Amino acid sequence: MTVRALRPEGPAWERVSQALRGQASGEQPVCAYVYDLGALVERVEAVRAALPQRCELYYAVKANGHAAVLSTLARYVEGFEVASLGEIDKALAAGASRLAFSGPAKTDAQLTGALRAGLGLLNVESMHELRRVGLIGARLGVRVPVALRVNRRAGGLAGALRMAGTATQFGVDETLLAEALELARALPAVALRGFHLHAASNNLDAAAHTSFVADSVAWCLRQAARHRIDLDVIDVGGGIGVAYTGGEGFDLPGFAAGLAIATDQLPPGVRLVFELGRFLVAEAGWYAAEVLDLKCTHGRHFAVLRGGTHHFRLPAAWGYSHPFAVLPVEAWRYPFVRPQVRAMCVDAVGELCTPRDVLARQVWVERLRIGDILVFPLAGAYGWEISHHDFLSHPHPAQLVLDRQPSRQPDRQPGWP
Ligand SMILES: *Cc1c(COP(=O)(O)O)cnc(C)c1O
Repeated sequence: MTVRALRPEGPAWERVSQALRGQASGEQPVCAYVYDLGALVERVEAVRAALPQRCELYYAVKANGHAAVLSTLARYVEGFEVASLGEIDKALAAGASRLAFSGPAKTDAQLTGALRAGLGLLNVESMHELRRVGLIGARLGVRVPVALRVNRRAGGLAGALRMAGTATQFGVDETLLAEALELARALPAVALRGFHLHAASNNLDAAAHTSFVADSVAWCLRQAARHRIDLDVIDVGGGIGVAYTGGEGFDLPGFAAGLAIATDQLPPGVRLVFELGRFLVAEAGWYAAEVLDLKCTHGRHFAVLRGGTHHFRLPAAWGYSHPFAVLPVEAWRYPFVRPQVRAMCVDAVGELCTPRDVLARQVWVERLRIGDILVFPLAGAYGWEISHHDFLSHPHPAQLVLDRQPSRQPDRQPGWP
Protein backbone atom coordinates (compact mmCIF):
# COMPACT_ATOMS: atom_id res chain seq x y z
CA MET A 1 0.00 0.00 0.00
CA THR A 2 1.39 3.38 -0.95
CA VAL A 3 1.74 5.86 1.87
CA ARG A 4 0.85 9.35 0.72
CA ALA A 5 1.98 12.69 2.05
CA LEU A 6 -0.58 14.09 4.48
CA ARG A 7 -3.06 16.79 3.57
CA PRO A 8 -3.81 18.32 6.95
CA GLU A 9 -6.72 20.67 7.50
CA GLY A 10 -8.20 22.63 10.35
CA PRO A 11 -7.38 25.64 12.47
CA ALA A 12 -4.19 24.25 14.01
CA TRP A 13 -2.75 23.49 10.57
CA GLU A 14 -3.75 26.98 9.39
CA ARG A 15 -1.83 28.52 12.28
CA VAL A 16 1.21 26.30 11.86
CA SER A 17 1.49 26.63 8.08
CA GLN A 18 1.08 30.38 8.29
CA ALA A 19 3.87 30.61 10.86
CA LEU A 20 6.14 28.49 8.67
CA ARG A 21 5.38 30.53 5.55
CA GLY A 22 6.48 33.53 7.60
CA GLN A 23 9.82 31.81 8.18
CA ALA A 24 10.25 30.98 4.51
CA SER A 25 11.02 34.55 3.52
CA GLY A 26 14.12 34.60 5.75
CA GLU A 27 17.77 34.31 4.70
CA GLN A 28 18.21 30.79 6.03
CA PRO A 29 16.38 27.66 4.94
CA VAL A 30 13.44 26.88 7.22
CA CYS A 31 14.05 24.53 10.11
CA ALA A 32 11.76 24.81 13.09
CA TYR A 33 9.73 23.23 15.80
CA VAL A 34 6.32 24.83 16.09
CA TYR A 35 4.39 24.46 19.34
CA ASP A 36 0.73 25.36 19.14
CA LEU A 37 -0.55 26.23 22.60
CA GLY A 38 -4.15 26.27 21.40
CA ALA A 39 -3.90 22.61 20.39
CA LEU A 40 -2.17 21.85 23.67
CA VAL A 41 -4.95 23.42 25.73
CA GLU A 42 -7.60 21.59 23.71
CA ARG A 43 -5.96 18.27 24.41
CA VAL A 44 -5.40 18.75 28.12
CA GLU A 45 -8.96 20.03 28.52
CA ALA A 46 -10.28 16.93 26.76
CA VAL A 47 -8.26 14.64 29.03
CA ARG A 48 -9.34 16.56 32.12
CA ALA A 49 -12.96 16.33 31.10
CA ALA A 50 -12.67 12.59 30.44
CA LEU A 51 -11.00 11.60 33.72
CA PRO A 52 -13.34 10.83 36.63
CA GLN A 53 -13.27 13.21 39.59
CA ARG A 54 -11.18 10.87 41.70
CA CYS A 55 -8.24 11.08 39.31
CA GLU A 56 -5.34 13.49 39.38
CA LEU A 57 -3.47 14.45 36.26
CA TYR A 58 0.27 15.01 36.32
CA TYR A 59 2.37 15.93 33.29
CA ALA A 60 5.62 14.00 32.66
CA VAL A 61 8.10 16.77 31.87
CA LYS A 62 10.51 14.57 29.93
CA ALA A 63 8.08 14.39 27.00
CA ASN A 64 8.57 18.10 26.31
CA GLY A 65 10.27 20.57 28.62
CA HIS A 66 9.74 23.75 26.58
CA ALA A 67 9.00 26.65 28.96
CA ALA A 68 5.84 27.71 27.11
CA VAL A 69 4.50 24.15 27.09
CA LEU A 70 5.19 23.77 30.81
CA SER A 71 3.71 27.09 31.86
CA THR A 72 0.59 26.39 29.79
CA LEU A 73 0.14 22.91 31.24
CA ALA A 74 0.84 24.10 34.79
CA ARG A 75 -2.58 25.77 34.72
CA TYR A 76 -4.40 22.54 33.92
CA VAL A 77 -2.68 19.74 35.81
CA GLU A 78 -2.27 18.91 39.48
CA GLY A 79 1.46 18.52 39.22
CA PHE A 80 4.51 17.59 37.16
CA GLU A 81 6.34 14.27 37.09
CA VAL A 82 10.08 14.97 37.02
CA ALA A 83 13.23 12.87 36.89
CA SER A 84 16.16 15.26 37.46
CA LEU A 85 17.07 18.51 39.16
CA GLY A 86 17.01 20.15 35.74
CA GLU A 87 13.40 19.10 35.28
CA ILE A 88 12.57 20.25 38.81
CA ASP A 89 13.98 23.71 38.01
CA LYS A 90 11.96 23.88 34.80
CA ALA A 91 8.79 22.68 36.51
CA LEU A 92 9.08 25.19 39.35
CA ALA A 93 9.91 28.03 36.94
CA ALA A 94 6.73 27.13 35.04
CA GLY A 95 4.63 27.40 38.18
CA ALA A 96 4.16 23.74 39.03
CA SER A 97 2.42 23.40 42.36
CA ARG A 98 3.30 19.78 43.01
CA LEU A 99 5.98 17.36 41.87
CA ALA A 100 6.36 13.61 41.68
CA PHE A 101 9.99 12.57 41.33
CA SER A 102 10.88 9.29 39.56
CA GLY A 103 13.96 7.72 38.02
CA PRO A 104 16.04 4.62 38.66
CA ALA A 105 19.35 6.40 39.35
CA LYS A 106 18.74 9.30 41.72
CA THR A 107 21.90 10.67 43.31
CA ASP A 108 22.10 11.96 46.89
CA ALA A 109 22.36 15.48 45.46
CA GLN A 110 19.17 14.96 43.47
CA LEU A 111 17.31 13.52 46.42
CA THR A 112 18.47 16.39 48.62
CA GLY A 113 17.53 18.96 45.97
CA ALA A 114 14.15 17.35 45.43
CA LEU A 115 13.37 17.27 49.13
CA ARG A 116 14.45 20.89 49.51
CA ALA A 117 12.17 21.82 46.60
CA GLY A 118 9.36 20.42 48.74
CA LEU A 119 8.17 17.85 46.27
CA GLY A 120 4.81 16.19 46.70
CA LEU A 121 5.78 12.58 46.16
CA LEU A 122 8.99 10.63 45.75
CA ASN A 123 8.68 7.53 43.60
CA VAL A 124 11.30 5.25 45.13
CA GLU A 125 12.72 2.60 42.82
CA SER A 126 14.95 0.35 44.98
CA MET A 127 15.79 -0.81 48.53
CA HIS A 128 19.06 1.11 48.47
CA GLU A 129 17.27 4.26 47.37
CA LEU A 130 14.74 3.77 50.18
CA ARG A 131 17.55 3.62 52.76
CA ARG A 132 19.16 6.75 51.32
CA VAL A 133 15.84 8.60 51.36
CA GLY A 134 15.51 7.63 55.03
CA LEU A 135 18.95 9.01 55.75
CA ILE A 136 18.67 12.23 53.75
CA GLY A 137 15.15 12.91 55.01
CA ALA A 138 16.35 12.51 58.61
CA ARG A 139 19.29 14.82 57.94
CA LEU A 140 16.98 17.49 56.53
CA GLY A 141 14.43 16.92 59.26
CA VAL A 142 11.60 16.11 56.85
CA ARG A 143 9.22 13.19 56.52
CA VAL A 144 9.28 12.20 52.88
CA PRO A 145 6.04 11.15 51.17
CA VAL A 146 7.03 8.04 49.25
CA ALA A 147 5.34 5.86 46.64
CA LEU A 148 7.11 2.56 46.14
CA ARG A 149 7.59 1.78 42.47
CA VAL A 150 6.94 -1.91 41.98
CA ASN A 151 7.72 -4.06 38.99
CA ARG A 152 4.92 -6.55 39.31
CA ARG A 153 5.09 -10.17 38.16
CA ALA A 154 1.89 -9.72 36.19
CA GLY A 155 -0.14 -6.62 35.50
CA GLY A 156 2.13 -5.27 32.78
CA LEU A 157 0.92 -3.42 29.75
CA ALA A 158 1.91 -3.79 26.11
CA GLY A 159 3.09 -0.76 24.20
CA ALA A 160 6.10 0.44 22.26
CA LEU A 161 8.25 0.10 25.41
CA ARG A 162 7.56 -1.95 28.54
CA MET A 163 8.80 -1.00 32.01
CA ALA A 164 7.00 -3.51 34.21
CA GLY A 165 5.81 -7.11 34.11
CA THR A 166 9.20 -7.91 32.57
CA ALA A 167 12.89 -7.53 33.42
CA THR A 168 13.80 -3.82 33.51
CA GLN A 169 15.81 -1.41 35.66
CA PHE A 170 12.62 0.11 37.07
CA GLY A 171 11.08 -0.38 40.46
CA VAL A 172 11.41 -3.00 43.16
CA ASP A 173 10.74 -6.56 42.06
CA GLU A 174 7.40 -7.71 43.42
CA THR A 175 9.06 -10.65 45.21
CA LEU A 176 10.81 -8.06 47.45
CA LEU A 177 7.60 -6.22 48.30
CA ALA A 178 7.19 -7.42 51.89
CA GLU A 179 10.83 -6.68 52.64
CA ALA A 180 10.66 -3.22 51.08
CA LEU A 181 7.50 -2.33 52.99
CA GLU A 182 9.03 -3.50 56.25
CA LEU A 183 12.09 -1.37 55.57
CA ALA A 184 9.95 1.68 54.74
CA ARG A 185 8.07 1.23 58.00
CA ALA A 186 11.31 1.11 59.96
CA LEU A 187 12.56 4.42 58.57
CA PRO A 188 11.13 7.34 60.55
CA ALA A 189 11.80 9.84 57.73
CA VAL A 190 9.81 7.79 55.23
CA ALA A 191 6.05 8.22 54.99
CA LEU A 192 4.81 5.47 52.73
CA ARG A 193 1.83 6.82 50.80
CA GLY A 194 1.27 4.18 48.17
CA PHE A 195 2.51 2.60 44.98
CA HIS A 196 3.81 3.68 41.62
CA LEU A 197 3.16 1.33 38.71
CA HIS A 198 4.10 3.14 35.46
CA ALA A 199 4.32 0.21 33.06
CA ALA A 200 4.55 1.10 29.38
CA SER A 201 4.97 3.69 26.69
CA ASN A 202 2.74 4.40 23.70
CA ASN A 203 -0.05 1.96 24.40
CA LEU A 204 -2.89 2.50 21.92
CA ASP A 205 -5.29 -0.10 23.29
CA ALA A 206 -7.78 1.73 25.51
CA ALA A 207 -9.42 -1.47 26.75
CA ALA A 208 -6.01 -2.85 27.77
CA HIS A 209 -5.24 0.42 29.53
CA THR A 210 -8.53 0.27 31.40
CA SER A 211 -7.77 -3.28 32.53
CA PHE A 212 -4.28 -2.26 33.55
CA VAL A 213 -5.62 0.55 35.72
CA ALA A 214 -8.40 -1.58 37.24
CA ASP A 215 -5.94 -4.38 37.95
CA SER A 216 -3.42 -1.93 39.43
CA VAL A 217 -6.07 -0.48 41.73
CA ALA A 218 -7.19 -3.93 42.87
CA TRP A 219 -3.59 -5.01 43.46
CA CYS A 220 -2.76 -1.87 45.48
CA LEU A 221 -5.86 -2.29 47.64
CA ARG A 222 -4.94 -5.94 48.29
CA GLN A 223 -1.36 -5.07 49.23
CA ALA A 224 -2.48 -2.17 51.42
CA ALA A 225 -4.82 -4.50 53.32
CA ARG A 226 -2.27 -7.30 53.59
CA HIS A 227 0.57 -5.05 54.75
CA ARG A 228 -1.61 -2.58 56.70
CA ILE A 229 -0.62 0.46 54.66
CA ASP A 230 -2.53 3.68 55.02
CA LEU A 231 -3.00 4.05 51.28
CA ASP A 232 -3.17 7.56 49.87
CA VAL A 233 -1.82 7.29 46.30
CA ILE A 234 -2.13 4.83 43.46
CA ASP A 235 0.08 6.19 40.70
CA VAL A 236 -0.51 4.35 37.42
CA GLY A 237 2.00 6.48 35.47
CA GLY A 238 1.59 7.37 31.82
CA GLY A 239 1.94 5.41 28.62
CA ILE A 240 -1.16 6.41 26.67
CA GLY A 241 -0.14 6.35 23.06
CA VAL A 242 -0.36 8.27 19.81
CA ALA A 243 -1.01 6.62 16.43
CA TYR A 244 1.96 8.04 14.56
CA THR A 245 1.44 6.20 11.32
CA GLY A 246 -2.33 6.53 11.20
CA GLY A 247 -5.04 4.05 12.08
CA GLU A 248 -7.12 4.01 15.23
CA GLY A 249 -5.92 6.37 17.92
CA PHE A 250 -6.35 5.81 21.65
CA ASP A 251 -10.08 5.77 22.47
CA LEU A 252 -10.18 8.37 25.24
CA PRO A 253 -13.97 8.30 25.82
CA GLY A 254 -13.93 4.49 25.92
CA PHE A 255 -11.05 4.55 28.37
CA ALA A 256 -12.79 7.12 30.56
CA ALA A 257 -15.99 5.08 30.64
CA GLY A 258 -14.05 1.98 31.69
CA LEU A 259 -12.17 3.94 34.32
CA ALA A 260 -15.30 4.55 36.31
CA ILE A 261 -15.21 0.85 37.23
CA ALA A 262 -11.70 1.25 38.66
CA THR A 263 -12.45 4.48 40.48
CA ASP A 264 -15.62 3.03 42.01
CA GLN A 265 -13.38 0.58 43.90
CA LEU A 266 -11.35 3.38 45.46
CA PRO A 267 -11.88 3.87 49.19
CA PRO A 268 -12.45 7.48 50.27
CA GLY A 269 -9.27 9.54 50.32
CA VAL A 270 -7.29 7.38 47.91
CA ARG A 271 -6.07 9.33 44.87
CA LEU A 272 -5.60 7.76 41.46
CA VAL A 273 -2.73 9.57 39.77
CA PHE A 274 -1.95 9.61 36.04
CA GLU A 275 1.37 10.93 34.77
CA LEU A 276 0.83 11.55 31.08
CA GLY A 277 3.54 12.74 28.74
CA ARG A 278 3.15 11.81 25.10
CA PHE A 279 -0.64 11.90 24.95
CA LEU A 280 -0.80 15.49 26.24
CA VAL A 281 1.86 17.09 24.06
CA ALA A 282 2.46 15.07 20.87
CA GLU A 283 -0.28 16.76 18.87
CA ALA A 284 0.76 20.25 19.88
CA GLY A 285 4.16 20.05 18.18
CA TRP A 286 5.25 20.09 14.55
CA TYR A 287 8.71 19.70 13.10
CA ALA A 288 9.42 21.45 9.82
CA ALA A 289 12.42 21.34 7.53
CA GLU A 290 13.05 22.84 4.09
CA VAL A 291 14.01 20.66 1.15
CA LEU A 292 17.64 21.57 0.30
CA ASP A 293 18.15 19.07 -2.47
CA LEU A 294 16.43 16.37 -4.50
CA LYS A 295 18.34 13.47 -5.93
CA CYS A 296 18.04 9.97 -7.26
CA THR A 297 20.64 7.29 -6.57
CA HIS A 298 20.32 3.67 -7.63
CA GLY A 299 16.77 4.36 -8.69
CA ARG A 300 15.58 5.74 -5.36
CA HIS A 301 14.53 9.35 -4.81
CA PHE A 302 15.62 11.40 -1.83
CA ALA A 303 14.44 14.72 -0.44
CA VAL A 304 17.38 16.09 1.53
CA LEU A 305 16.32 18.37 4.36
CA ARG A 306 17.80 21.19 6.40
CA GLY A 307 17.27 19.16 9.55
CA GLY A 308 16.96 15.50 10.40
CA THR A 309 17.18 12.96 13.15
CA HIS A 310 19.47 15.16 15.29
CA HIS A 311 16.34 17.31 15.78
CA PHE A 312 13.67 14.66 15.51
CA ARG A 313 15.08 11.29 16.45
CA LEU A 314 11.84 9.47 17.24
CA PRO A 315 11.27 7.78 13.84
CA ALA A 316 14.89 6.61 13.69
CA ALA A 317 14.81 5.45 17.32
CA TRP A 318 11.62 3.49 16.83
CA GLY A 319 12.23 2.44 13.24
CA TYR A 320 9.14 3.79 11.50
CA SER A 321 8.38 6.34 8.80
CA HIS A 322 6.95 9.51 10.29
CA PRO A 323 4.17 10.98 8.13
CA PHE A 324 4.64 14.46 6.70
CA ALA A 325 2.81 17.11 4.71
CA VAL A 326 4.33 19.15 1.92
CA LEU A 327 4.02 22.88 2.47
CA PRO A 328 4.58 24.50 -0.93
CA VAL A 329 6.69 27.65 -0.90
CA GLU A 330 6.60 29.79 -4.05
CA ALA A 331 9.73 31.83 -3.40
CA TRP A 332 12.83 30.54 -5.22
CA ARG A 333 16.30 31.85 -4.42
CA TYR A 334 18.28 30.98 -7.53
CA PRO A 335 18.60 32.19 -11.13
CA PHE A 336 18.25 28.68 -12.58
CA VAL A 337 15.45 26.18 -13.03
CA ARG A 338 13.89 24.87 -9.85
CA PRO A 339 14.32 21.10 -9.53
CA GLN A 340 11.20 19.13 -8.69
CA VAL A 341 9.76 15.63 -8.63
CA ARG A 342 6.19 14.77 -9.54
CA ALA A 343 3.97 11.84 -8.61
CA MET A 344 6.52 9.54 -7.04
CA CYS A 345 7.80 8.15 -3.77
CA VAL A 346 10.61 9.89 -1.92
CA ASP A 347 12.62 9.21 1.22
CA ALA A 348 12.83 12.22 3.56
CA VAL A 349 16.41 12.35 4.80
CA GLY A 350 18.39 14.83 6.88
CA GLU A 351 21.60 16.83 6.69
CA LEU A 352 23.74 14.40 8.73
CA CYS A 353 26.56 12.42 7.14
CA THR A 354 25.04 9.03 7.84
CA PRO A 355 22.58 6.90 5.86
CA ARG A 356 20.65 6.41 9.12
CA ASP A 357 19.48 10.00 9.03
CA VAL A 358 16.03 9.11 7.69
CA LEU A 359 12.69 10.52 8.86
CA ALA A 360 10.41 8.76 6.38
CA ARG A 361 10.74 6.24 3.59
CA GLN A 362 8.80 5.83 0.37
CA VAL A 363 6.16 8.49 0.77
CA TRP A 364 4.15 9.44 -2.30
CA VAL A 365 4.23 13.12 -3.18
CA GLU A 366 2.23 14.73 -5.98
CA ARG A 367 4.88 17.40 -6.38
CA LEU A 368 7.92 18.33 -4.35
CA ARG A 369 10.34 21.11 -5.16
CA ILE A 370 13.59 22.23 -3.64
CA GLY A 371 12.58 25.05 -1.30
CA ASP A 372 9.27 23.47 -0.26
CA ILE A 373 8.92 22.57 3.41
CA LEU A 374 8.17 19.15 4.85
CA VAL A 375 6.05 19.38 7.97
CA PHE A 376 5.94 16.47 10.42
CA PRO A 377 2.95 16.58 12.81
CA LEU A 378 2.78 14.73 16.15
CA ALA A 379 6.28 15.94 16.99
CA GLY A 380 5.50 17.60 20.31
CA ALA A 381 6.50 14.64 22.48
CA TYR A 382 9.93 13.00 22.60
CA GLY A 383 10.92 15.01 19.52
CA TRP A 384 13.54 17.65 20.27
CA GLU A 385 13.94 16.28 23.81
CA ILE A 386 15.37 12.90 22.87
CA SER A 387 17.51 14.01 19.93
CA HIS A 388 21.30 14.38 19.72
CA HIS A 389 21.23 18.10 18.91
CA ASP A 390 24.92 18.74 18.40
CA PHE A 391 25.92 15.78 16.28
CA LEU A 392 27.65 17.52 13.33
CA SER A 393 27.19 20.95 14.95
CA HIS A 394 24.52 22.28 12.63
CA PRO A 395 22.47 25.21 13.92
CA HIS A 396 19.50 24.21 16.06
CA PRO A 397 15.98 24.61 14.70
CA ALA A 398 13.96 27.70 15.55
CA GLN A 399 11.38 27.09 18.26
CA LEU A 400 8.18 28.91 17.40
CA VAL A 401 5.43 29.16 19.96
CA LEU A 402 1.96 29.96 18.67
CA ASP A 403 0.16 31.52 21.53
CA ARG A 404 -3.58 31.44 21.51
CA GLN A 405 -5.58 32.33 24.51
CA PRO A 406 -7.47 29.31 25.76
CA SER A 407 -11.18 29.40 25.01
CA ARG A 408 -12.08 29.45 28.70
CA GLN A 409 -10.39 29.60 32.05
CA PRO A 410 -9.21 26.31 33.49
CA ASP A 411 -11.47 25.03 36.23
CA ARG A 412 -8.51 24.35 38.50
CA GLN A 413 -6.20 27.17 39.46
CA PRO A 414 -2.48 26.94 40.21
CA GLY A 415 -1.87 25.87 43.76
CA TRP A 416 -4.62 23.27 43.78
CA PRO A 417 -5.39 21.94 46.29
C1 LIG B 1 8.07 8.70 30.95
C2 LIG B 1 7.27 8.55 32.13
C3 LIG B 1 5.93 8.93 32.13
C4 LIG B 1 5.22 9.46 30.92
O1 LIG B 1 5.12 8.49 29.94
P1 LIG B 1 4.29 8.75 28.58
O2 LIG B 1 4.45 7.47 27.86
O3 LIG B 1 4.92 9.89 27.89
O4 LIG B 1 2.89 9.04 28.97
C5 LIG B 1 5.22 8.82 33.32
N1 LIG B 1 5.80 8.33 34.44
C6 LIG B 1 7.08 7.93 34.46
C7 LIG B 1 7.66 7.40 35.71
C8 LIG B 1 7.85 8.02 33.32
O5 LIG B 1 9.12 7.60 33.34
